[in-house]
Amino acid sequence: MSAPDEGDKPTVAGCALCGKPRDPRYQPFCSKRCADIDLGRWLGGRYAIPAHETEDGMEASPIDEETPPRLN
Ligand SMILES: [Zn+2]
Repeated sequence: MSAPDEGDKPTVAGCALCGKPRDPRYQPFCSKRCADIDLGRWLGGRYAIPAHETEDGMEASPIDEETPPRLN
């Protein structure tokens, strides 16, 4: 005996991002925008390994700084 499939509502396949009706061209998204957003999450470095690390806020001071002559 199989369980009766109550709620005969058709499965609404919405955009995986915003839930709007999908566009066949951008499955499973509704538009290129949503597809790009989802793609950007993976390529943007948020969930992936960062391509390059940048230390912002601290500028590396030049090591070859001219030292002033000592006065005896
Ligand atoms: Zn969408």
